[in-house]
Amino acid sequence: MVGQEVARRRTFAIISHPDAGKTTLTEKLLLFAGAIHIAGSVKARKASRHATSDWMEIEKQRGISVASSVMQMEYGDCVINLLDTPGHQDFSEDTYRVLTAVDAALMVIDAGNGVEAQTLRLLEVCRARNTPIITFVNKMDREVREPLDLIDEIERTLRMAAVPFTWPMGMGRGFQGVFDLRHNHMRVFHPGSDRLDDEDEIIQGLDNPLLAERFGDQAANLQQEIELIRGASPEFDQEAFLAGRQTPVFFGSAINNFGIREVLDALVGLAPPPGSRSALQRHVQPHELRFTGVVFKIQANMNPAHRDRIAFVRICSGRFERGMNLRIARNDKDIRTNGVVSFLSQRRDLLDVAYPGDIIGIPNHGTLQLGDTLTEGERLQFTGLPFFAPEIFQTVEIADPMRSKQLKLGLAQLGEEGAIQVFRPHLGSALLLGAVGALQFDVVAHRLKYEYSVDARLAPAKYQLARWITAEDARELKRFIDTNAHRVAYDAVGAPTFLASFGAELSVAEENWKHIRFHKMREHA
Ligand code: GDP
Repeated sequence: MVGQEVARRRTFAIISHPDAGKTTLTEKLLLFAGAIHIAGSVKARKASRHATSDWMEIEKQRGISVASSVMQMEYGDCVINLLDTPGHQDFSEDTYRVLTAVDAALMVIDAGNGVEAQTLRLLEVCRARNTPIITFVNKMDREVREPLDLIDEIERTLRMAAVPFTWPMGMGRGFQGVFDLRHNHMRVFHPGSDRLDDEDEIIQGLDNPLLAERFGDQAANLQQEIELIRGASPEFDQEAFLAGRQTPVFFGSAINNFGIREVLDALVGLAPPPGSRSALQRHVQPHELRFTGVVFKIQANMNPAHRDRIAFVRICSGRFERGMNLRIARNDKDIRTNGVVSFLSQRRDLLDVAYPGDIIGIPNHGTLQLGDTLTEGERLQFTGLPFFAPEIFQTVEIADPMRSKQLKLGLAQLGEEGAIQVFRPHLGSALLLGAVGALQFDVVAHRLKYEYSVDARLAPAKYQLARWITAEDARELKRFIDTNAHRVAYDAVGAPTFLASFGAELSVAEENWKHIRFHKMREHA
């Protein structure tokens, strides 16, 4: 039973540079899969574009993201879990963690802009994990870059072979459709977004005289280009794709609902079902009968009066049943799961059963932390949830000393959520905040004020980089900490960190302390 359910699951994240068309494509994917009522949530996200400041936009995204950041749909025989990733680059940390919960990624590229900065960063994370990537080149209804150029750019910047599965005829006003290279037919483009594809017009065969009749020179052009790419691009190789060395490429126009079906078919046909996951103790296979799962994201509820949080858990093995007792491996505490929610459509449905690859949301008041492993009792700790060394630091003070308890509570909770990293210096008592993106500070100050009634003053700190420090010999680590006491702080889980004001300071420390290891990334362990 579990094995069958695993085989029909596909769990993937959708990634892109802002404005490439991620939201639009998501809406259309859901439309095709029959979850049409989701369109409302997409509109809600659109509204966030009119926010007056960046952090307001982020607040709004946060507000709707519990509902729309995980979507589940059925397509054919498959159950597809689609995970959204935050668009703003200052929240890339969150995105990295979301990427640890998926088995594949769908990358949306704006055909006018090619591969953009944010896409590249996300790609690095996918590559580090060998996540297979399917590429959708969007906005072919506009005057965009030459498709051959785009393919070349994808290959150069992403350092993987791009294998076109469809090829566009024309672009902008002259966009006529896409030719499906595997099925050897052309789907003719008709603008408009409300249609579903049963009205689609298909022309069979690349040498079909109908093509020349209808499209004149463009048909000859298409034949030439296809000949060229068939000669130049490698055969699709499933293994290379699964290892992240090849990406199948599709062209289309999300807003016109065009080219979407091919993407969905690829997701179902090419993307892998949930695979095994590494834990400190052993590898866990998805079809094992006992439940295991890992918390990869924590989202505070928008209602400050309740202050409850939802922990997003990716199921790694077994079968989840509502009401079952789950054990947190970190502290052997049990939690009950009566209130667990799923993310079908935009409503947060109560959920009864779920399988590997599915995401469940567990409401809690801080019992669950990022990286926590849940089991039916086994002591197990999944690895691979990354924390990145902050690059910007601020000190935090409060106007009203009477609120310092509130401040501590707020920072502890925001820290656990992963919104910010909180460090406690080895010397002194003033807390230090670390972030990867500057906007995280604005959000934290705002949330401290509105959710914890604390007026916090944040000011730039003198540090510019941090490295987690470890050593094989505990005495050596202690010696380092004692010698560098003024530059050492402890993070939320008490892991010691070396702080430096300049890159050179780090180099000197590395030079002088051969037995200390300096880490840019920490995995929950
Ligand atoms: P996101 O920031 O990646 O989620 O991008 P959105 O889905 O919000 O799209 C950004 C803008 O591009 C919006 O104005 C969309 O209407 C527009 N857009 C999306 N897909 C297409 C497309 O296929 N063609 C054209 N011309 N515009 C598109």
